[in-house]
Amino acid sequence: MVWRAQYDVIVVGGGHAGCEAAHAAARFGARTLLLTQNLETIGHMSCNPAIGGLGKGHLVREVDALGGVMGEVADRAGIQFRLLNRRKGPAVRGPRAQMDKVLYRREMRRILESVQTLSLRQAEVVDLVWRDHHLQGVVTDWGERYQAKAVVLTTGTFLQGLVHMGERTFPAGRLGDRASIPLASTLHQMGLVMGRLKTGTPPRLDGRTIRWDRLTEQPGDDPPLPFSFMTPAITQTQVPCHITTTTPATHAVIRANLQRAPLYSGQITSVGPRYCPSIEDKVVRFAERDSHQIFLEPEGLTCAEIYPNGISTSLPIDVQWELLRTIPGLEEVEILRPGYAIEYDMVDPRQLDGGLQVKEWEGLFLAGQINGTTGYEEAAGQGLVAGLNAARLAKGMGGVRFERADSYLGVMIDDLITRGVDEPYRMFTSRAEFRILLRADNADIRLTPLGREWGLVDDRRWERFLVRRAAIEEVRGQLKASRVCLQAGEGRISGWDALRRQNMTVSEILAAAGLDPVLADVATALEVEAHYQGYLEKQVEEVERFRQAEMILLPVDVPWGEIPGLSTEIKQKLGRVKPETIGQAYRIPGVTSGAVSALLVWLKKTTRKGGMEIQGEGVKPQKKDH
Ligand code: FAD
Repeated sequence: MVWRAQYDVIVVGGGHAGCEAAHAAARFGARTLLLTQNLETIGHMSCNPAIGGLGKGHLVREVDALGGVMGEVADRAGIQFRLLNRRKGPAVRGPRAQMDKVLYRREMRRILESVQTLSLRQAEVVDLVWRDHHLQGVVTDWGERYQAKAVVLTTGTFLQGLVHMGERTFPAGRLGDRASIPLASTLHQMGLVMGRLKTGTPPRLDGRTIRWDRLTEQPGDDPPLPFSFMTPAITQTQVPCHITTTTPATHAVIRANLQRAPLYSGQITSVGPRYCPSIEDKVVRFAERDSHQIFLEPEGLTCAEIYPNGISTSLPIDVQWELLRTIPGLEEVEILRPGYAIEYDMVDPRQLDGGLQVKEWEGLFLAGQINGTTGYEEAAGQGLVAGLNAARLAKGMGGVRFERADSYLGVMIDDLITRGVDEPYRMFTSRAEFRILLRADNADIRLTPLGREWGLVDDRRWERFLVRRAAIEEVRGQLKASRVCLQAGEGRISGWDALRRQNMTVSEILAAAGLDPVLADVATALEVEAHYQGYLEKQVEEVERFRQAEMILLPVDVPWGEIPGLSTEIKQKLGRVKPETIGQAYRIPGVTSGAVSALLVWLKKTTRKGGMEIQGEGVKPQKKDH
């Protein structure tokens, strides 16, 4: 076989997973090739022009803490920043920002092109090459073959993508891009278990035809809070969003045309994101409501395109015109691009290990929407993990895993590979059981040392991290050593206790004690730590129990069908996921405490025969459904 060139890692797809995977692999030192259908669409946002949000903002911070690119690019391209849930507890606060889409793509490409060991090339991958279940390389639509030790597929919504716009359907990866059909056939031929999901997007509007004076303005935070631990301040121009609502007239138009909506005519059969329903779905499901909020979000500083967040639709285009013009401020609006839904193939992620490698196919990694997730941030997080593990495999090193106890990345990957997906998976803070420990504000403290150890964090980031960590430690010491008086006539207490009781802020305590002020992020970190000290200590204990169950490793070749005391159904469930630890087995939906006990008995007998000891024997993790 003639190869055009050889690489350590090939990443297929230049979306959010692909960019992060290629960057992580190349920064690790692997010779990496990013092959994508169109170089112009590297880092393109298929749907809303925003990064972050509840749960998603945590992922961006974690990717950043590990040396990923999404946070820094978003800081440069962000045109409105808001910290969501500001009034709620620190565990559920989510940074979010509107993006200038063109700037985002440009910045992403600039950063990727600055990495020496990374090559970019425009081509569609139409086939994979393998021998004995080991990936060898890929074939492009130009008929060229590229060899690699590991291949990461990040094909998003493109595998057998089918767009729906009213009665019309046509193959596409998203509007304006062709579907990836030959590669989907290859994955089916390889025997991978595949599924089909759906998502949708609203029409894009011409901002010059919107009556802004009739709408409520929504400004961003001042000052804006950056995503990246490397960004000292946001310098990009900031713009407001605007708010409007649907009306009873809008709902009447939708109801009158429901039979033309692919979701209701039976044309779309696959499942879409429950928490992000189309406007037709909202009108049917929440029939009692006569209005829904719409955020009008600018797509950039240099174009008039507006994204109306909240009215994703696959109704025919004539209905889209009609319904839009019933909305205050949009009476004369012009559509720039129609809304649509898309159905696409995905791979059942229960076939993957914790490093996102397909268990049955050495060297094949999957990341992003192909694994059944939705969202740029979920894709980026998986991309980083898959890219890193692909690079490590290529270099003959063992894989690395994130845990539920250390990160949202760990929560997401464990959910995917253990539970699978029956609807597009998105991150929520409620998915993390240890969320007081896993906050967006401490992502660097949790993960940057790991990223450094694993070869992802460069010297510049590491030095900045050491300075921040030392500042937190120093001020913590000062607070504990200082004595302050809360009320005249009362005794003095330590600054730390004053902080815990929420009587004083860090700045007030330092000022009272005659000490120098500190940066706001250092003060916030300590305030959160002091206020939640009790909860944090409790969660550290819970993590300890959780880790004990995670330490009981299961062999790769467990004969699931032969373990005594398990029902056929449970044997099948375990056999499908092939859990790597007792903890993971326990989290598979439907696997009972009794089944885990039977598994432990079997494991003890088998390992004793093999002369091995089980660590942490008998520990049962808490069974939790979410
Ligand atoms: P993508 O960003 O889709 O990137 C895939 C990349 O792979 C592209 O660059 C493509 O050109 C390339 N590619 C595909 N096949 C090949 C091949 N064979 N060879 C070479 N390159 C290939 N997310 C939300 O969070 N909320 C939403 O409401 C939402 N709505 C959406 C609506 C629509 C219509 C679409 C299309 C997407 C929507 N998304 C939404 C999803 C969001 O766009 C994705 O989750 C995110 O982009 C996934 O990132 P990814 O990297 O996995 O894939």
